Amino acid sequence: MKVIGYWITSLVDEEFPPPQELVTDYVPGTRQRIADYLDAGATFEVYRGVSWCRFFCGHPGHCSELTDGEWVWPADLSHYVRDHSVRLPDAFIADALSKPVPATAHCSSPSIIPDETYWISWCAKHRSNSLRSRIQAARTQADIEVQQIKAQAIADRERQEGLSGTTCQWLGCQNLALAGRLICASCMLTAQWSGTLFEPYWDLRPVLHM
Ligand SMILES: [Zn+2]
Ligand SMILES: [Zn+2]
Repeated sequence: MKVIGYWITSLVDEEFPPPQELVTDYVPGTRQRIADYLDAGATFEVYRGVSWCRFFCGHPGHCSELTDGEWVWPADLSHYVRDHSVRLPDAFIADALSKPVPATAHCSSPSIIPDETYWISWCAKHRSNSLRSRIQAARTQADIEVQQIKAQAIADRERQEGLSGTTCQWLGCQNLALAGRLICASCMLTAQWSGTLFEPYWDLRPVLHM
């Protein structure tokens, strides 16, 4: 089974495009038929997270994937076709326009892991890249923000704990260790950071909302 309809999730996401880069003109009538086909899919999987429209139009998010037995898509993909005229692969459109709308529920099988590679390479070939420079600029800005968050946290920690007279024991690190510790503030905080340092990269609204 092939996955379609997944979009950029953060500023460092290189695989999935913003749907703005796939907006197209449909032949009159086909857009509605494709959207109806997408709505009629059987539930394949339900997730805990809720998606949000990448056009920031206020459309309520979905948390499930639907399928026709061959393709798998997020439940709100019909919204992107119907309301934002987003393009999908010709092979899927041919199915959607020729096959009857799937009427029976397919059971999701835990052994089936849908393939994302088809969608990723199709997007790479067909996206317009019109937002690429905006995304890159925002990513550079987020990099700077992350460096500032780090520097501030290190300075705060050094002020609280003071510095020792010895070098950090972490391999290759030349910073002074914190007073009474073997490692420096930077090495100590790096182990705790991972998630919080990613926050500036989640903010897609300024880039995609125009
Ligand atoms: Zn929308
Ligand atoms: Zn260190």
